[in-house]
Amino acid sequence: MNGYNINEISLNKTKANDFVDIIEADNVSHAYIFECTDMPTAREFAVFIAKLLLCEVESSSKPCGSCSSCLKLSELCHPDVVLLSSSGGRFSFHIEDIRFIRSDAYVMPNDSDKKIYILENAQDMTVQAQNALLKILEEPPKNVYFFILTIRRELLLPTVLSRGQIIKLESPEDKQREVNENAALTLKALLSPLNNRFDFFAFFLSLKLKRDKALELFNDIVELLRDLIIYKESGNSTIYDQTEKLSVLVSAKAIIKMMDSLREAILKIENNANINAVFTLLAYELWSSKSI
Ligand SMILES: [Zn+2]
Repeated sequence: MNGYNINEISLNKTKANDFVDIIEADNVSHAYIFECTDMPTAREFAVFIAKLLLCEVESSSKPCGSCSSCLKLSELCHPDVVLLSSSGGRFSFHIEDIRFIRSDAYVMPNDSDKKIYILENAQDMTVQAQNALLKILEEPPKNVYFFILTIRRELLLPTVLSRGQIIKLESPEDKQREVNENAALTLKALLSPLNNRFDFFAFFLSLKLKRDKALELFNDIVELLRDLIIYKESGNSTIYDQTEKLSVLVSAKAIIKMMDSLREAILKIENNANINAVFTLLAYELWSSKSI
């Protein structure tokens, strides 16, 4: 598993992980629309992706969190990243801000080779502002990226929406899904061909959950595994957007064995077994089941 500091973001780790693949494949779009009911969460996510794009270290462990670019982004004072926001309230995001972007985007970057514009509370843009933004989204300068943050996609013009990739982010209120993120990350850590046993153990044991959270996590992993089985049999996926990618990495027999191990672990926790022992044994069992 990559050594980058995914824990910098509290939510949406699976989606942030997806960006690692997108950036490695050099497949980054010039405009993303991050939809989230909680604006600080959307900003945290956008800044993390900006760090991934601009981190200066030459390794797979981006963002390092300690190079000059990462540090400037943590302080929100990177010269090549412009953060604009509405002043609060509907239609308080004016065309002047977009006009500034339209001239600034053609100025060469300072520190890096890219420029990033983060538009916070973009749903507050006036129609004129959105139409002005549309012009630059239609013909963006090279190496310029837009992260458009909105609480609801419907509040943006359809023409603007059509120019970016829409990514729905989870907000902190959605506790149930937060656990699901850990379940999804566990499966990814387990099944990714890039990971060795130690990578998986390190990740899984780092979860160190209390009893009731561990029960939720194990039940969520069972649900996701069930989704993989259903996909293998029918080609349909119901709950998990990684199902298609992951289902080819593991046999149905292995999935069933893993589900058995998880159910046993759930029983043990319900019977007050030592939580560390349960996690450790389960890590071994999941790993040894995965290649059968
Ligand atoms: Zn860095």
